[in-house]
Amino acid sequence: VDFLDRPSRSRLMSRIPQKNTKPELVVRSAVHRLGFRFRLHKRNLPGSPDLVFASRKAIVFVHGCFWHRHAGCGRSCIPKTRPGYWKAKLDRNVRRDRAAVRKLKKLGWRVLVVWECNTKNVRELEQKLTRFLDPDRAALRR
Ligand SMILES: [Zn+2]
Repeated sequence: VDFLDRPSRSRLMSRIPQKNTKPELVVRSAVHRLGFRFRLHKRNLPGSPDLVFASRKAIVFVHGCFWHRHAGCGRSCIPKTRPGYWKAKLDRNVRRDRAAVRKLKKLGWRVLVVWECNTKNVRELEQKLTRFLDPDRAALRR
């Protein structure tokens, strides 16, 4: 299903450097509100992770559902124009994501992927981030 009209599609295509996207900003401000300290886009780590919590040895990726092919998600699709090109391109992204997670785990990092579609409900997002970053605090709040 081509879920985007033409203007949003070209906006999406032009947004190739996939940093500082709206979902990313939502996650960053949620993390701020929760009081966790982090660094951004560490290029020296596999996949240059979006948020790095060094003292917790934890990493959060924020993935756009289209670009990273969120499995089973309505926002994930192969565009109708040049489908072969897009499938190859998006599959490459998925392979790169998996390789990065594998390498990070080997280096002892814990990894959480937050999908774009999971950033709509801020409360749930905050709970998910707290459970991942500080399980003890999450347990207290339950
Ligand atoms: Zn999704």
